[in-house]
Amino acid sequence: PRKQRLLVVANRLPVSAVREGVDSYHLEISVGGLVSALLGVKEFDTRWIGWAGVNVPDEVGQRALTKALAEMRCIPVFLDEEIVNEYYNGYCNNILWPLFHYLGLPQEDRLATTRSFQTQFDAYKKANQMFADVVNKHYEDGDVVWCHDYHLMFLPRCLKEYNDKMKVGWFLHTPFPSSEIHRTLPSRSELLRSVLAADLVGFHTYDYARHFVSACTRILGIEGTPEGVEDQGKLTRVAAFPIGIDSERFIRALDLPEVQNRMKELKERFAGRKVMLGVDRLDMIKGIPQKILAFEKFLEENSHWRDKVVLLQIAVPTRTNVPEYQKLTSQVHEIVGRINGRFGTLTAVPIHHLDRSLDFHALCALYAATDVALVTSLRDGMNLVSYEFVACQASKKGVLILSEFAGAAQSLGAGAILVNPWNITEVAASIGYALDMPADEREKRHQFNFKHVTTHTSQEWAATFVSELNDTIVEAQLRT
Ligand code: UDP
Repeated sequence: PRKQRLLVVANRLPVSAVREGVDSYHLEISVGGLVSALLGVKEFDTRWIGWAGVNVPDEVGQRALTKALAEMRCIPVFLDEEIVNEYYNGYCNNILWPLFHYLGLPQEDRLATTRSFQTQFDAYKKANQMFADVVNKHYEDGDVVWCHDYHLMFLPRCLKEYNDKMKVGWFLHTPFPSSEIHRTLPSRSELLRSVLAADLVGFHTYDYARHFVSACTRILGIEGTPEGVEDQGKLTRVAAFPIGIDSERFIRALDLPEVQNRMKELKERFAGRKVMLGVDRLDMIKGIPQKILAFEKFLEENSHWRDKVVLLQIAVPTRTNVPEYQKLTSQVHEIVGRINGRFGTLTAVPIHHLDRSLDFHALCALYAATDVALVTSLRDGMNLVSYEFVACQASKKGVLILSEFAGAAQSLGAGAILVNPWNITEVAASIGYALDMPADEREKRHQFNFKHVTTHTSQEWAATFVSELNDTIVEAQLRT
């Protein structure tokens, strides 16, 4: 029988396009979490709809790009520079992202944001409508439409306005904050109502789902039920679907000669020292300064560890043109410099801080060579780095220190050492505990997490969401 078609709509396509000529493009695939999640789902005929990350004002260029992307089952949404600035940089990244992660803005930015709010929200709605137009053009009866993330909260409503028979799901990849935070958004009600137009709304954790339901009950005054939110007889199902990783991909990579060689190099390079690892985008939410300060405190209090441990921090640059992110970068550099100055010797420093990304194989080798991984996010929807570390630790059985504010704490809590990243005394003590942990305890903790990571995979996540969406619609039809 013919496979069911799945239209995945996300702000960014899994392909980046760079224009090379009037009608030619260079396309580069990016294997993010969502892409690898859906690669493994074979029961659907999947197509992607989204922005290719490039401004194409002319029709010739648009036609050429559409054609090139079609071969990769991708359908572009064309956004011009002004829309990208107001919708993406503005409303999505300066308003929704900080708010959903409980981040305050500096005072002057806060006032500027208040002033530009309406323009940016209008652009957000307009952009969502542009995504909806493309979906509508390609939609066929029976398709499932899966909308992703905070960029597209308006999309479910736009889609249902075209066709209320469309099967529409929406999934949020960030935290959903307490209703007291969501309440401060000028567009709080409109956003909630638009999301509620979907048939199924999904979050990484029960806490986020609960926050969403209480935002609906408190702000909209409508009823929450164990299944979701009910408004005038229409039920929107709300549930938790924790994402996973393609663990097999990581496990397989560890056997490659290239990765083995890199592991050997790392082992020789850091012989006699324990390796601690941090891998984060250099974002405010990741708590990188807090992590490094906790490490400093640990070194302060444990002089016998000073030449026996090294922290490797991979800090992937992100939004480098935004002043606040530039400030974070120099703040981190300053702290790292101070600590290396304090505790370094002529031949070794305690922190290797890298402002760059690593390729997949280098990352796998690093995960596998690590004794203790440190994830100190102040807020994080899930945090896949913690999953990837666990997947690569079958032989070493290293320890994961994990922030209780990462979604992953809900699933890896029994195997990891959970910490409050704001409490650097606690984090410093946990570092000591992790470094000294006896092998049998490490083994037990690792087994728990390894089992979780290898059974709750990204493929299972995607398949569960879509089948739940199909079921939700069947149940709704039975009720009427
Ligand atoms: N990552 C990468 N190269 C690097 C560092 C990280 O590809 O040099 C990947 C990493 O493997 C993970 C993702 O970036 O899949 C980060 O996901 P996570 O959920 O931890 O955080 P996010 O960046 O989405 O907030």
